[in-house]
Amino acid sequence: MIDLQTFVETKYGKTIQESSNEELYYALLELSKEASSAKPTNASKKKVYYISAEFLIGKLLSNNLINLGLYEEVKTQLAEAGKDLIEIESMEMEPSLGNGGLGRLAACFLDSIATLGLNGDGVGLNYHFGLFKQVFRDNQQFTEPNDWITDESWLNRSSKTYQVPFANFNLTSTLYDIDVPGYKTETKNRLRLFDLDSVDASIIKDGIDFDKTDILKNLTLFLYPDDSDRQGELLRIFQQYFMVSNAAQLILDEALAKGSNLHDLADYAVIQINDTHPSLVIPEMIRLLTERGIDFDEAVTIVKSMMAYTNHTILAEALEKWPLDFLEEVVPHLVPIIKELDRRIKETVTDSTTDIIDESGRVHMAHMDIHYGYSVNGVAALHTDILKTSELKAFYDLYPEKFNNKTNGITFRRWLMHCNPRLARFLDEILGHGYHHDAAELETLLDVKESTLVKKELEKIKTHNKRKLQRYLQAHQGVTVNPDSIFDIQIKRMHEYKRQQMNALYVIHKYLDIKAGNIPARPLTVFFGGKAAPAYTIAQDIIHLILCLSELIAKDPEVSPHLQVVMVENYNVTAASFLIPAADISEQISLASKEASGTGNMKFMLNGALTLGTEDGANVEIHELVGDENIYVFGKDSQTVIDLYANNGYVARDFYEKAAIKPLVDFIVSEELMALGSPERLGRLHNELIVKDWFMTLLDLEDYIVVKEKMLADYEDRSRWLDKVIVNIAKAGFFSSDRTIAQYNEDIWKLS
Ligand SMILES: *Cc1c(COP(=O)(O)O)cnc(C)c1O
Repeated sequence: MIDLQTFVETKYGKTIQESSNEELYYALLELSKEASSAKPTNASKKKVYYISAEFLIGKLLSNNLINLGLYEEVKTQLAEAGKDLIEIESMEMEPSLGNGGLGRLAACFLDSIATLGLNGDGVGLNYHFGLFKQVFRDNQQFTEPNDWITDESWLNRSSKTYQVPFANFNLTSTLYDIDVPGYKTETKNRLRLFDLDSVDASIIKDGIDFDKTDILKNLTLFLYPDDSDRQGELLRIFQQYFMVSNAAQLILDEALAKGSNLHDLADYAVIQINDTHPSLVIPEMIRLLTERGIDFDEAVTIVKSMMAYTNHTILAEALEKWPLDFLEEVVPHLVPIIKELDRRIKETVTDSTTDIIDESGRVHMAHMDIHYGYSVNGVAALHTDILKTSELKAFYDLYPEKFNNKTNGITFRRWLMHCNPRLARFLDEILGHGYHHDAAELETLLDVKESTLVKKELEKIKTHNKRKLQRYLQAHQGVTVNPDSIFDIQIKRMHEYKRQQMNALYVIHKYLDIKAGNIPARPLTVFFGGKAAPAYTIAQDIIHLILCLSELIAKDPEVSPHLQVVMVENYNVTAASFLIPAADISEQISLASKEASGTGNMKFMLNGALTLGTEDGANVEIHELVGDENIYVFGKDSQTVIDLYANNGYVARDFYEKAAIKPLVDFIVSEELMALGSPERLGRLHNELIVKDWFMTLLDLEDYIVVKEKMLADYEDRSRWLDKVIVNIAKAGFFSSDRTIAQYNEDIWKLS
């Protein structure tokens, strides 16, 4: 039992009631840190190091309280003093250590690794200002530094430091740890974040611009600094090497401390390379082993038995290739090692498409990972199939045994218990607590599928969550939404392949339809949220279109009672935890074959939203689990799309010319919208859709509109709709990251 009253009185000399929410936040931060620091770290022999450029961990207070088993007690004791945990939690700054799905996945995995009692730490960088904070002005995105680190925080500064050698200087790192307590476990793991004491925010000028050459001051300022020029690319290499050299030194330290003689390093450590950003860990580990007296051949053998690579994308432009002379400039000591690794492949493999160093002297990071690791995994069944049969076919032919699938998952502690406590409590009541540890038990919800009481309660919970979102948006953005409308939500990074532009064209369709006198049965609110990379012009143009539509509709008294568009500012984990529980419709409309998995789709399903999606990523598995009746799918399938790319078979203009499509696309440059927005941005987007449309928006647009209209009509049969909701929640157990991590461990890590 904890006694919060005494804790607060000792800390502040006053009662809970007399303390401010901010004071209570810091008291709870201290209390949770004490509770997790009292737990021993997992001490078993073999350990997984999950190295990742991103960890999108979200606010930690409630989650840590849940995992430490303190949440209910704390909540009750606060409530007795008239205080609300949600308001107290709003005092916490969200850590800005990630960008999107890949980083959020890493965070869910840390939670599940700890919860399953496995020995595993995350390793990454402590970015002071993260990606960026998104603000909207003049219907456009602007970027500001996201200053998230406060004096007292979850970060614990450790005494560990390492020397990291670069071409002209050495840097001395500092290690910060964030405790990762598993859900009701005896031990804890950690997130290890490396930093540099000399980093200096004063070099930041306008927005998020800074001197990219001043490595001592800029190294850990931002995640994914702009790499559209040479200096930016060099900085990314500086960051990546700093991350992995520290990681490799930490791994050797910890293994040696446990008695490794280095020849047996693979019995102590396995490294999961999350996407290609940490790939330099391969040559770096070889370098460090040879420095410590292991000969080169043996070092290669050791490394080959401890590196596993996760592929997250089939977008060619997202697969990193560093020019050899850039590496020469930053980390010349790795270049001979990379050349030797490449030479050995060229000696044995005739197919030059698998070369590490290509003809133009670029180093393909993924190729190095696949040749010199023992496992390559995709993140959803379809994605892994595409890797095997097309994108990485040459590698699959060489090493079929290395390839495996690990369909992504999400932690239910955050994406159900924390973000939707009402639903969690209701499920506890009708199912018991078994599903907390075995998510597959959610399926017993199907036994009460016919119960009108259950349906009534689910309806009440959804309305409650819509009101909660309404209050959040009112407070954070001054936007008023109608909780009696259908909540249709698309939240994810802004990218053409995710096709927010297709949803925007639907909005145009609906707007014109209402203008023509077709009043919908019920109002619809279309939510968007997502950041666009500063150098990604078309993504910014799409945000601009959405914001202009939002303004146009809000100002039109004929349309606004029936349709509203909300672009949520600075979409992050906190916003997601308000949006997802409130959703009726989950928009997962990527071009088939392009979204590796998605995890947003899983969060929505678990929270009782129905998917409107293409047969892409994990949508395919959602479809298989819930059946045709309980999902809304549309669009061309992945094979058709792959073939269209292969034979240049898609001509956007042919679709644009169709009578149903042309007026929607042309509305982007209509007088009404041009009056609200930038003719340059709107004109560019309009032109892009007609002459290029690389992600085939217009290919699926008509089908999308038909299926979405059907979905909105189906919403009116509340009993049938809630049947589908129940099936979706019941079948979501498969997407628990506890299942994913158990599979990683069984097939790849083999920790005891
Ligand atoms: C889950 C999540 C994502 C990933 O969403 P997708 O729809 O899978 O792209 C991105 N950002 C945040 C904040 C998330 O919580």
